[in-house]
Amino acid sequence: MWYYLSYFATSIIKSINVKLPKTAKETAGIYLHIPFCKKACHYCNFHFSTSMRHQPEMIDAMLTEIALQQGYLENLPVASVYFGGGTPSVLETSAINQLLQRIEQFHDILPDAEITLEANPDDLTTAKLQQLSETKINRLSIGIQSFFDKDLEFMNRAHNSEEAIACIRNAQEVGFQNLTVDLIYGTPTMTNEEWRKNLQTVFDLNIPHVSCYCLTVEPKTALEHFVKTGKSKDVNEEQVAEQFQILVEEMTKYGYLHYEISNFAKPDFFAVHNGNYWKGKKYLGIGPSAHSFNGQSRQWNVANNAQYIKSLQENKLHYEVETLTTRDRYNEYIMTGLRTIWGVDLIKIEAFDIAVKTHFIDKSKQYLLQGLMIQEGNHYKLTSKGRLLSDGIISELFWI
Ligand code: SF4
Repeated sequence: MWYYLSYFATSIIKSINVKLPKTAKETAGIYLHIPFCKKACHYCNFHFSTSMRHQPEMIDAMLTEIALQQGYLENLPVASVYFGGGTPSVLETSAINQLLQRIEQFHDILPDAEITLEANPDDLTTAKLQQLSETKINRLSIGIQSFFDKDLEFMNRAHNSEEAIACIRNAQEVGFQNLTVDLIYGTPTMTNEEWRKNLQTVFDLNIPHVSCYCLTVEPKTALEHFVKTGKSKDVNEEQVAEQFQILVEEMTKYGYLHYEISNFAKPDFFAVHNGNYWKGKKYLGIGPSAHSFNGQSRQWNVANNAQYIKSLQENKLHYEVETLTTRDRYNEYIMTGLRTIWGVDLIKIEAFDIAVKTHFIDKSKQYLLQGLMIQEGNHYKLTSKGRLLSDGIISELFWI
C-alpha cells in the first residue's frame, strides 16, 4: 500500500526547524539517490533513467523532500552522507552543493563525517575533479568494474580502461586520498589471470578501499535476455568460486582487511556509510527508490521519476512502509552481521527474544563443528571457509 503524506509548505517547515543539542553518541546516515545514468549497463537492475531531461525538477523535488523529512532522524548527528544512484557524478557541482547545503540546514553533520559521491570514470574529467575537490565531498566511490575494455564492452559501461586509470590518478592528484572502487568478478569474458591483473592494477594505484561484487544475472535486465537467448554465456559458479578465492588471497597479501564479504579496506579506510547499514543504524533515504530505516520500520520511495517529482511538487511524500517484526529484525541482523568481521553478538540476539537465542545456538552448532564458524566469547563469526558458503549458512540461521 502506498502512503501519501501531506505536510505544510516547505517554507513553513523550514521556519520551524530547530536543531536539538546532541545528547547521545548514536549517529545516523543520509543517502541520496540520483536516478540518472548516461548508459544502461547490461547487468543493472537499479532505478535510473538515461534521459537527463528532468534533472532540474528532480533536484528541486529532492530539496523539498529533505525539508519534509527533516524529523525522520530525530536530530541524530549525521556521520555519513552518501550520493548514490544511478550516477551522481552526472550532476553539476552546483546541484551537489545545493543538496548538501539543504541537508546541513536541517541536520547536524559531524565535522569528520564521511561524504561520498559515487562516480563513473567518464564523468571524472580533470576539471570536474577539481570542482569536486572544492565541495564537501571527501570520498569518491568510482565504478571501475574492470580495467579491460572487453569486459567493459560486455557490461555496456560508458567508460573505457584508459579513462578508468586516468580518473584514479587525477582524483589522487587533486587530493582525494579516500577512494574506493567497485570491481566485478565472474564475468564470462574475464579469465582468472585477467582477474589477478585487475587486482594488481588496484594495488599499483594504491587504492585504499575496494568493493568486489560477483556478476549476477538479475531479472528483467539485458543480461538476463542475452543469457536466455544464448547471446551471452551464463555466470559459471566454478569460475565465481575460483575468482572469489583469488580475491581474498590477493587482498590479504597486500594488507587489505576483508571486513565484509564484498568489501576490503586498508586500516582506517572502512566505509562509514555501509558500516552504518550493517550495524543497524538509522538512515534517511532521499530521492526516487531510496530506502529509509528508523530502527522500527523501513520505507522506500516510489521508484518512478515522474511520480516522485509530481508528489514533491505537491509537497507530498510518496512511499511504501513496512513495520519490522522481531523475526525480520533478527533475520536482518544475522544477514548483515555474519557478512562482517565483527560477526553477531549473542547478547543482541537474546534481546530480540530468548527463543531466537536458543534457535541460533542450536543451528550454529554444526557450523562450529565443521570449522565454518568460530565463537569468541559472545561473538559468532564466519571463518574464511564459512564465507565461501555464507548465503547457505545465513539462510539456515534465519528464524522462519
Ligand atoms: S552506471 Fe551504475 S546505476 Fe547506472 S546503469 Fe550502470 S551499474 Fe546501473
